[in-house]
Amino acid sequence: MNPFLNPIIGVPFIKKLIFDAERLKKMTPERMKKHKDNAIKRIVKYAYTVPLYHEKYKEAGVHPSDINRIEDVTKLPFITKQDIVKHFPNKIVPKNYNFNKGYVVSTSGSTGKPVYMYTDFQTMADSIGTSIRVFRTFNLHWRTSKFAYVMNYHPNAPPDAIEKVFTNKARSILPLKNHLSIPAFNPILNIMKKLDSFNPDLIVSLPATFQHLAFLKRKGFGQNLNPKILISGGYYLDKYTQSYVENSFGCKMFNIYASCEANADIAFECKERTWHINQDYFHVETIDHNKDIVDSGQRGHIVITRLFGKGTPIIRYTGMDDWVRISPDNKCKCGICSPKLITGVEGRISSSIILPDGRLFTPGTFSIISIVLSQLKTYKVKQFQIIQKSIDDIDILLEIDDELRDIDPSVKLIIDRIKEAYEKMVGPQVQINVKEVDEIKSNSEKPSPIVISHVSLEKIKTIITSQKSSSYDY
Ligand SMILES: [Zn+2]
Repeated sequence: MNPFLNPIIGVPFIKKLIFDAERLKKMTPERMKKHKDNAIKRIVKYAYTVPLYHEKYKEAGVHPSDINRIEDVTKLPFITKQDIVKHFPNKIVPKNYNFNKGYVVSTSGSTGKPVYMYTDFQTMADSIGTSIRVFRTFNLHWRTSKFAYVMNYHPNAPPDAIEKVFTNKARSILPLKNHLSIPAFNPILNIMKKLDSFNPDLIVSLPATFQHLAFLKRKGFGQNLNPKILISGGYYLDKYTQSYVENSFGCKMFNIYASCEANADIAFECKERTWHINQDYFHVETIDHNKDIVDSGQRGHIVITRLFGKGTPIIRYTGMDDWVRISPDNKCKCGICSPKLITGVEGRISSSIILPDGRLFTPGTFSIISIVLSQLKTYKVKQFQIIQKSIDDIDILLEIDDELRDIDPSVKLIIDRIKEAYEKMVGPQVQINVKEVDEIKSNSEKPSPIVISHVSLEKIKTIITSQKSSSYDY
């Protein structure tokens, strides 16, 4: 039976569309606190029926009755990516779990072994408010505006699960002809043709896909394609790529921050460029390499607690590979009151750059190439990539747009300026090589990240510890 035709599911679903999306705007801080207190109690009680959590909590001497308010979350032990991997499948869901109703989703495995976990129809329905919230932020309506998602639809990828478990069923009762999904790894020209004939108001995709589409748009493809808003997620978006894409499409581009484990958007960027945390859906903490909580405003490794849903619970989960800084509740000009990610998501921890003197840069803080290119007022660089080959040797690869090659500034000047800026930043101990390449290679199923590090995480930890640095704050 289609769950949407079941009145027990159908009615709460419509209610969610209307109410949940507005919670960040409408709930008073007291009401929000109450909502989070109730949610954490409920979710910890559920997690206690899941063997992995049950064992961990027993070992830590903590019981669901000890968790009465959101602050009590710090009494709970952390759950790692390895914990989930090791206990898949039977011990990451309740003992009586109905596996026929569950759906396995997995991370892309871009930073090691993929993590498999369970989600279900109810969890997806619970999360829908985060999407509606983003649509409303940009004055789009889920029934009347046109949406295109160019995402990773490999088997078990979250967008694939949403399509199979949720959207397909929703199509039977809801008019979703205004929603188009295209696999991001289709040939880019085909993607452009489909987008051109659909002409969506909003495109949601990955930074690298946008970069390629923007290049085609500059070359005259997609004449009918005039989106109002672009939304980027999945990878760190640097300022140069953002500006390149915005300039090509003539509209603004914003970020969302989601993950497979989260099953929804953890945060999103509003028109004021504030990264709002969906605090009614997630409790977000930041820790340092000793797993101590870092002060508000300081950079740390993200830890998430999902406050909704069933399937595999995600509570104090450290398996996400991103750097963030959190600021407490703040009222934004857009009308939303929520904690925020001060500088957005600064990229993957495993793509960080470590220098011999112990300084550690996130992909975000190391992308000063974006600043150099914007100072030179050029869109001549089609794509770039930074590769740390070893602790003291870094390559910066540039792919040049041939049609712009003979327009100023020259490629030589661009290379010299980038080299100069990086040498100033890293100091004389590190070799910087800026090179033009014919093509920046991309794995067939994963877009190429802008920063790649071949220095092991173990080595990074050793260097940081030897410097007695307790902060990642560069
Ligand atoms: Zn805002």
